[in-house]
This record gives sequence, C-alpha cells and structure tokens, in this order.
Amino acid sequence: MSRYPEETDVVIVGSGPTGATYARIIAETRPGTSVVMLEAGPTVSAPPGAHVKNIADPDERSQAQRRSAGPDADAETVAHPGEVKAGQLRARPGTFLVGDGAAGDGDDGLPVAAQSCNVGGMAAHWTGACPRPREGERVGFLPDLDALLHEAERLLGVTSQAFEDSPFGDLIVSRLAAELDGGRAPEARVGPMPLAVHRREDGALVWAGSDVVLGDVTRADPGFRLVDESLVTRVLVEDGQAAGVEVTDRTSGTTHIIRAAHVVVAADALRTPQLLWASGIRPTALGRYLNDQTQVVFAVRLRDVVDRAGEQSAQAEPGMGLSSTSGVTWVPYTDDEPFHGQIMQLDASPVPVAEDDPVLPGSVVGLGLFCAKDLSPEDRIDFSDERTDAFGLPAPTIRYRLSEKDHRELRRARERIVRWGRAIGEPLDDSPFTLPLGSSLHYQGTTRMGLEDDGSSVCRPDSELWDVPGVFVAGNGVIPTPTACNPTLTSVALAVRGAREIARRLSGDAERGRSQTWARAPLASLTEGGSHDS
Ligand code: FAD
Repeated sequence: MSRYPEETDVVIVGSGPTGATYARIIAETRPGTSVVMLEAGPTVSAPPGAHVKNIADPDERSQAQRRSAGPDADAETVAHPGEVKAGQLRARPGTFLVGDGAAGDGDDGLPVAAQSCNVGGMAAHWTGACPRPREGERVGFLPDLDALLHEAERLLGVTSQAFEDSPFGDLIVSRLAAELDGGRAPEARVGPMPLAVHRREDGALVWAGSDVVLGDVTRADPGFRLVDESLVTRVLVEDGQAAGVEVTDRTSGTTHIIRAAHVVVAADALRTPQLLWASGIRPTALGRYLNDQTQVVFAVRLRDVVDRAGEQSAQAEPGMGLSSTSGVTWVPYTDDEPFHGQIMQLDASPVPVAEDDPVLPGSVVGLGLFCAKDLSPEDRIDFSDERTDAFGLPAPTIRYRLSEKDHRELRRARERIVRWGRAIGEPLDDSPFTLPLGSSLHYQGTTRMGLEDDGSSVCRPDSELWDVPGVFVAGNGVIPTPTACNPTLTSVALAVRGAREIARRLSGDAERGRSQTWARAPLASLTEGGSHDS
C-alpha cells in the first residue's frame, strides 16, 4: 500500500511547530478533514515530534540528535560554547549547517546557518523560550495579534512558572530589575522567561515540541496522517492555483503526486523559499529581507550567594542543558533598547573554577543578548537553477551583511551585556563574545507577510501567497518585522490565522457542496509546474 493518498484536502510540508499548528487548528475546528503532513526527516522521538531532551537515555538521545542532522548526519556537533569561542563553526546537536553557500563572496553571510531534518523540526531540539513580541517587533497591521499570541501560548503550553523554585532565579530578576526597570513600562520589566515546558506529576520537566502542538486531538483525528522521510520536491500549480505536491519517498526513492487545493509550506525560513523557487513560484520578495538576530554572550558568577537549595539541588540532569535547578530570566525588547535578553542559569560553569571553591547550582549565569536587524531587501537567500543541495533541491547562497546601524547596535549590545552582567555577579569572561552570524537559529523575513501586494511581501495577512491562491506559507520567514525576541511564538500565532482561514474555506466548500475540480485534474497538467517565473 502506498504511504501517500492520491488526494487530500490539505497538504502540510514540514512537521515543525508551525506546520503542526495548521494540523491542530484544522483538527479542532473541522474534525475529519483529510490532512497529510509530509516531513523530509525521520521520526526520532515518541510521540512523533516530541523534544529529544525528554528522552531519558543519553545514548538514545544523542542517536536522535544525530538522526536529525540531515544527509551528513555523522558530522560532529558542538555542544560547548568554549568550542565556538575557539572559532569552530559547527552545528548544535540536532541541527546541521547549510555549509557551502552560507556566505556569498564578499558578504558577512550566516556562516553557522543551520537547520534540522526530523519529525518535529528544530522544536525537537529548542530551548522553548516563548516571549511575546513588543513595540517595533509586533506585526502592526494585524488587529488580532494579541488574541493570536494567546492562542499560540495555548498550543505550545507556555508558562512562566516552570522554574519558579530555581535557586537564585528571583535574585537575578531583582538585581537586573534594579539596574534596568527604571522608566520601563510594566510589561517591559525584567521577569521569568515564558517557556514551552511543563512538569509531570512526578516533578520531571517535559519540553514541548510539535507533539504538544499537535496534541491528542490531532493524533486521534482519522483525517490526519503524518508521513516521515517524505521530501516534497515541488508544489504543483494549475490554473494559477494550488493543485498539490510532488513528493519523494526517501525510504524507497519513488515519487508520488498528492492532489490538494490547499498546500501549506512550513519548511523553515531557508527551505520554504527554496521549495517555492523549485516550484517556479518566484515573487519579487521571495528569499529577501532575510534577518537573523546577532547574538552576544557573557558569563558571570553570582556574587554573595549561599547554597539555599541544599545538597539535593546539586543533582543536575546530565546532558539536559537546563536542569530542574536552572532558570531563565527575560529582559524584554524596547524600541529604545532594541535587544532581547535571555539570561540562563547554567548547570555547570563554562570556565574552570578552583577545586576548593565549588560552584553552587544555578549560580553560574550565561547572559545572551539578541539584536534586531536593520532590514534590507539585499539581505537574501538566492537559489541556483544549475546546482543542487544534498537533497537535490536548488542550492542556496546567503547574501547577508551587517549595516552601519547593525554594527552600532552591536557595539551598544556589547556594552549593555557587560553592564547587566556586573549588576548580578562577577564576570567569568574578559569581554563579551559575539557569536558567529546565524547562531541565533532565528532566521526570518524570507516569505514575509504584508498588507499590500507591493513587491515587498510574499503573502497576505492570512499567510496565503499573493500570487498563488491555495498556497500558504508558515514559519519564521513569514514574520515581516525585525524581531529580537525568540520568534517561534510569533510564527505559531501567524500560523493560527492561516489555519483558521483554510478551515473557514473548507467549511464554505462543504456547505456549498462545491465539486473540487482540482481533484480531477490530469496528472500531466499538474506536473507542468508553477506559473510565476518573475
Ligand atoms: P522547523 O521546526 O525548522 O521545521 C521545519 C521542518 O520542515 C523540518 O523538520 C524539515 O525537515 C522540514 N522540511 C524542510 N524542507 C522540506 C521538504 N522539502 N519536504 C518535507 N519536509 C521539509 N526558537 C524560539 O522561539 N525559542 C527558543 O528558545 C529557541 N531555541 C532554539 C534552540 C535550538 C538548539 C534550536 C535548534 C532552535 C531554537 N529555536 C528557538 C528555533 C525554533 O526551534 C524554530 O523557530 C522553530 O522550530 C521553527 O518552526 P518551523 O515549524 O517554522 O520550522
């Protein structure tokens, strides 16, 4: 039996949290709708899409991370910031670098631009920080943005209380607040980071991945099907409208056509434009306005602390990144201070300390500061019509530069992070470290949303392409603003809007009993491909 149906109501390309959002909203609002989710990578966790940090066995966990790392899955990964500081350009566990093409000639590029290839996408490996965008980060033309963000928090299971018992968390907040909160609006003040994480009844932490977004309601829906190891190579367009996809079964090498009037491309901010390009869908803004958040880091050790948590708290969970003794503090973005601060208590010191001076759990703190990019259409990802990548899709080249303004803000960020660090402890680093570009893993703008079809956007406010009705895009690429905060909550919120629009149309179709002519189109005409070779 084929792993693929010949036709379906909705095809979703990619199984990260934004693709999962489409499946969930459709399952909740129109149960029984036939939805096929196609994921290029393997299933590496259970339920499918679960965060690999929830895998208790360290060997199994690292095997899951390796299997997420694409075609060159045995490539070494880097887990320790020390290696980055030593100039090594490697991917983090569960991801793999874009590699060749990550920096066009003469550009800064994004040398450590990375991606994941597994059921659940990058959110099987993420930190789960889910702050709301503020001020200039917000998509100003969406009147329902707050309601959408609220819905995204529900889907991701976001809470600010996950680490409320962590030793010294409140101390960090109060010391930073004393330094920063003067003059800030109440919602811009320092506080615990909203995180997509919850505790089981036995107290163990569970990190949210796409499994949480999908939820039981989607998994139990008879209309929903998730097929892994399925590489979509083309979105099919007929009469200027979505007609389905061409997919290669990576388990057998066979190629299949699935017809659908609604195609959602949620293949991340680098590969969504790639797939559209490969399909001949090439609007002017495709791949442009690419923006990453330049990241500065600095480590300190809290001063004047005593072991309030006692012996038990020293039982960190090895290899789990953040243990139950750790916390994350948030310094929100403001237009005046256009940085997003993520302050993480570390399980172990990143630098050696004296043996007779043991590090109290939670007392070593890594400060990270993300900068909003100065947007330019010239920052972009280009695709080749001649060369292909390891998946056989058009090879990318990233053309990306920091502007004068970016360099100015970066200098300000480096000064700020030292000031924040000194407010809470004694520096462990001599100076702040600017991570190689691409480190944030928050690539945005390449399929951006707009209010008008004026060449500076790719899709409408409901994420449907201006040029091809029925094709929707999802992911951080849709965000039109230069955010500094972690973007997944925002891109899930935007996906909610698009998913509701598809559900609304499907309901309209059902009510009108309209025949779906796309489902009867001959295969030959479907495979002739796209219509927008601008
Ligand atoms: P992804 O999760 O990247 O999923 C896209 C999927 O599409 C992939 O699985 C890919 O294999 C699949 N795909 C691509 N092309 C095709 C194709 N042609 N056919 C079929 N399938 C295809 N974000 C935050 O907001 N907060 C954080 O704290 C945070 N921390 C992070 C820490 C780490 C270590 C990492 C790796 C990421 C982090 N991120 C964080 C980023 C976050 O994970 C992403 O923003 C989020 O996963 C994006 O969701 P998505 O659905 O758009 O894409």
